[in-house]
Parts: sequence; C-alpha cells; structure tokens
Amino acid sequence: MESGDLTDRRFVRYRHRLIEDIRATGVDDLEILHLFDRVPRHLFLPEAQWPRAYEDAPIPIGHGQTASQPSLQALYLDVLKLAPTDRVLEIGTGSGFLTALLALTAERVYSVERIRPLSRRARRVLDGLGIQNAALFVGDGSIGWRRFAPYDVIIVSAASPSTPGGLVEQLADGGRMLVPIGTQEAQELVLVRRAGDRTSEERVLDRVSFVPLLGLQGWSEDEAQV
Ligand code: SAM
Repeated sequence: MESGDLTDRRFVRYRHRLIEDIRATGVDDLEILHLFDRVPRHLFLPEAQWPRAYEDAPIPIGHGQTASQPSLQALYLDVLKLAPTDRVLEIGTGSGFLTALLALTAERVYSVERIRPLSRRARRVLDGLGIQNAALFVGDGSIGWRRFAPYDVIIVSAASPSTPGGLVEQLADGGRMLVPIGTQEAQELVLVRRAGDRTSEERVLDRVSFVPLLGLQGWSEDEAQV
C-alpha cells in the first residue's frame, strides 16, 4: 500500500488513541491492531467528518448510510481469523474502509454496494492507496455475487431479517459468514459456518444496530425505515 496520507502528522496521534480504544474492547491481536495504523480512516469519510474520523463510532457518509464502528470491524477480523489465501465477499461497501482492512489481510475482496456514488468514492480512495486486490460492484448484495463464488468468508455490513440463504450457498466448504440478524431496530451478530451441506449458527454479539439490508433477501425499500 502506498504511504500517502499515512505520514499526515495531524492524524497519527488520533489513530494511536483509536488503537488503544480498540484494544480496550478486548481485541489484542497485534496484526489486526496494526491494520488500523496502516489504513487512514479519514480518507474514506467526507471531509466534514475528518475531525471525528478516529473516534470509535459509526460516522455518517451521506446517502443515509454510515461507516461502521472501528472496534466492531476489529471484532469481525478477530472472529473470522482471515488467512492470506482467503477470498472474501463483503456486502455493503459503504465507505470502503473495511474493504481496505480486508484487502490487506486476505487474497482478494469482492465488495457489493447498492448506492453507486458510495462505491465510486470507495474505488477512488482504494486506488489512491494502491490497493489493487479489491473488486467493487454496484448491485443487490443480498443475493451475493455468484460469478466469483464460492467465498471463504462473507461479511454482511447491513442488518438482515433472517439468514440470507443465497449467501450461505455462496460459502465455500469450511467457509464462515458474519451477519447481523434481527429487526430494523436491533440485531444479533451471528457467525454462520458451513461444513459440507451442513451449516451452524452461533451468536457473537447480543445487540448491534446496522442500517437495513435492502434487496431481494433483505427488506424492500417500502419496508425500510430510512
Ligand atoms: N463496512 C462499511 C463501512 O465501514 O463503511 C459499512 C457500511 S454501512 C453500515 C452498510 C452499507 O450497506 C450501506 O452503504 C448500504 O448502502 C449497503 N447496503 C444495504 N443493502 C445493500 C444491498 N442489498 N446490497 C449492497 N449494499 C447494501
């Protein structure tokens, strides 16, 4: 990855404080913590949000969407234990920040976003950082991205009313998927594992709150409270 803004002294102190905040939530894997030092989160956010870029909080990115809380993304990485050979499908590119963390950890990332301007913006920032192993697609990610399936890991960054069956089908044997499942107000973060034809589900977090997954296997736009 190209260094670019990484040397921007204004943000280095805040970035280190964020890493301490993440560590305080229980993630102490040094490789994961180091990723938050390597990827400048502010670049993925609208400039008006730069003063808040290194808060451990969800941040508005326009179009009614948010960049997820960094400590939650660190937990994702901690739970999924990505291997350098893993192929990852991400549903909900949003800002593209998690896409960058995944691309620096796995072999290749395929990321789907339904809002074109968000996907375009994420592409520009990833290109600016020299991240080349992330393919972005605009469309309904609730049905996955069949063309490149199967995936070792699937991450759904939007709330789903139930386990999205189409995504489970795109998991490789031995694959795992993290998805928030529940109502539009509150969800549980669920880890789905696939072994042959069998799947198991395990609750990772009791209460999370994501924007809704809109699409064929999520909510319709009429149902969405956004
Ligand atoms: N990881 C992202 C980040 O940190 O910026 C999180 C983005 S936000 C919580 C969830 C994203 O999912 C939004 O950008 C939203 O537009 C997108 N989304 C919702 N339903 C979708 C669908 N069916 N297909 C693709 N993206 C979807």
